Amino acid sequence: MQCRSENELQILVDEAKHFTSKGKVADYIPALKRANRNSLSIAIYNPDGNYFSAGDISESFTLQSISKVLTLALALMDRGEEYVFERVGQEPTGDPFNSIAKLETSIPSRPLNPMINAGALAVTHMIKGNSVEERFSRLLTLVQKLTANSSIGYNKEVAESEFETADLNRSLCYFLKQHGLIKEDVEELMDLYTKQCSIELNCLDLARIGCVFSFDGKDPISKEQLIPTHIARICKTFMVTCGMYNASGEFAIKVGIPAKSGVSGGIMGAVPGRFGIGVFGPALDDKGNSVAGMKLMRLLSEKYSLSMF
Ligand code: GLU
Repeated sequence: MQCRSENELQILVDEAKHFTSKGKVADYIPALKRANRNSLSIAIYNPDGNYFSAGDISESFTLQSISKVLTLALALMDRGEEYVFERVGQEPTGDPFNSIAKLETSIPSRPLNPMINAGALAVTHMIKGNSVEERFSRLLTLVQKLTANSSIGYNKEVAESEFETADLNRSLCYFLKQHGLIKEDVEELMDLYTKQCSIELNCLDLARIGCVFSFDGKDPISKEQLIPTHIARICKTFMVTCGMYNASGEFAIKVGIPAKSGVSGGIMGAVPGRFGIGVFGPALDDKGNSVAGMKLMRLLSEKYSLSMF
């Protein structure tokens, strides 16, 4: 069954919206505190270019951890699988996204996967370019292509706010540097990482990126292969195993859609061979996922039988 109207989507949003009161807006990055806890919006982007939406989809938000999928794609394009996975593992951790614990206990010491902060920082380090500006602009160009929206940029205030307060991420970088996984200056890497996390878009843009992943990296409209098929598949697999922080297993059982969330409250979903989903709901649960957004994804999956399992 397919979603046929915005009314159908609106009913699901109305039902999920009650859950916003159960969550809390992220405040460890000061600039994120200003988000409206009660917001909830969704867009579904179909491969024929049509879309359905409900809620205020003009609201923009920053990618935060969703950017990790895109930096992974770029690093794999730049360096190849062997190089990347010699340095970052492929296994879920079961720990919070910013945990340092397993870095110390796993031997050899390397991050367990590219979706936790330690792994994402190591991956961002791999992006090629002669300067932070050049590396960031390569990433932004990829995002602009995936969204078919050349006006996408980053939120300077959010980037600076995170840069000023990212002591835990800095400590992960120093740990990785000690173990030879990061070679550049930590401040430069933090500059690039906080900018990537602050790339700003709306639900519709996010749904369009999801749609490209649904079709294994091929833009369904232009038919251009924006990300090589095998790389898009690797990204989607990480979305299933580690995309929803340490709730990824439960999400796979209850929703069954490859997805990635971020602490701004965004969730990108890619329903294989069907369509992309972009959700925004800034009230988070204690694992960092949008509470109402998760509920909405579940309702959607149940109503339209979207689970891939
Ligand atoms: N910029 C955030 C951080 O590194 C991203 C976290 C997230 O969205 O999970 O803390």
